[in-house]
Amino acid sequence: MLRTLADLEAVVDLTPEERRGMAGAAGRFRVGVTPYYASLMDPRHPHCPVRMQVVPVAAETGEAEGDLRDPLGEDGHRPVRSIVHKYPDRALFLAADHCAVYCRHCTRRRITGGEEGAFDRDSAAEGIAWVRSHPEVRDVIVSGGDPLALSDDRIGWILEELRAVPHVEILRVATRAPVVNPMRITGALAALLRKLAPIFVVTHFNHPKECTAEAREACERLVDHGVPVENQTVLLRRVNSSARTIADLNHRLLSWRVRPYYLHQGDLAEGTGHLRTPLAVGLGILEALRGHTSGLAVPHLAVDLPGGAGKVTLQPGWLLGPGDPAVPPAGASGTVAPPGRARGHWLRSWRGRPVFYPEPLETDCTCPYDEVFYGDRAALRRGGNGW
Ligand SMILES: *Cc1c(COP(=O)(O)O)cnc(C)c1O
Repeated sequence: MLRTLADLEAVVDLTPEERRGMAGAAGRFRVGVTPYYASLMDPRHPHCPVRMQVVPVAAETGEAEGDLRDPLGEDGHRPVRSIVHKYPDRALFLAADHCAVYCRHCTRRRITGGEEGAFDRDSAAEGIAWVRSHPEVRDVIVSGGDPLALSDDRIGWILEELRAVPHVEILRVATRAPVVNPMRITGALAALLRKLAPIFVVTHFNHPKECTAEAREACERLVDHGVPVENQTVLLRRVNSSARTIADLNHRLLSWRVRPYYLHQGDLAEGTGHLRTPLAVGLGILEALRGHTSGLAVPHLAVDLPGGAGKVTLQPGWLLGPGDPAVPPAGASGTVAPPGRARGHWLRSWRGRPVFYPEPLETDCTCPYDEVFYGDRAALRRGGNGW
């Protein structure tokens, strides 16, 4: 790992901003890059999207009103140290406090900064016991830090213990290894994961510059073994904050059979404000993708709300509102309304045209066969969702 000013100086022409960032980050936030990921940096251009994700700049340690140490309010939802439990039927499992690369936009930097201490075998055992005693949890996301910064033996043990819990239906491993340390994805690791199916690897590509032959091999190795790979991109100002970049990234990932899952609005993590985009930028990117390219390449735009309120997704304003087919929205031209008088809604097409969509005559949407198919009413209430 390249960690120090001298390490980075040897491979890139550091700007004064980056030098000040390195000085300011010392003792506050970890800095570290794998030699592989460092080799993708443009040594001369400070706006290189790889470099901006790993080399701190002065703004990271400057004044930052509104930034939060615990941006997602996770610490109030930690029944044990290694578990974050916010949603009825799933839990986040913190398996490690360290990573192969320390992202400048990390949302969990209070943990990856090392202040809380490492997650050891005892804290993992405590998390496993917690999952075992919570039958409503059917999906466990193993994260950290980066769980694949642990050895096969250590992460294998955690995942096998979780797989052995009867009510755990699916496992996810949230890791940047395919992006920053693709050689970590060995045939042995892929085979280990495959045995624990259904298990998803959720990775974190942010820019097409990260889409190398090595990264492709890592992703395809997982998929070829039968382990589906999903991607979460963090929207980063001046790194990937354009429709062209996101579309290009997602097209490349899809060609490797990696499915774009979330496009994350930046969290309010300390020292990340300079990398955050206005909400309208993410919405504009979705608007530029929808209809123009494969729906498979269009991720969910997620905002994880501060204070522990959880994730919500945003959509461009396709729904103009309820209305009458004979009364097009004010100022609209080129409107389309099918014949009929039924009331309904005006929507905006991806090409910008207002189109009327009528409500059906019948509106009772209860499913009578549910009673037959789900005879056990109690099972329906599992997870406290009240379904
Ligand atoms: C994001 C997240 C999840 C998973 O959310 P999905 O929408 O199911 O992907 C679970 N727990 C926590 C604490 C999270 O932040």
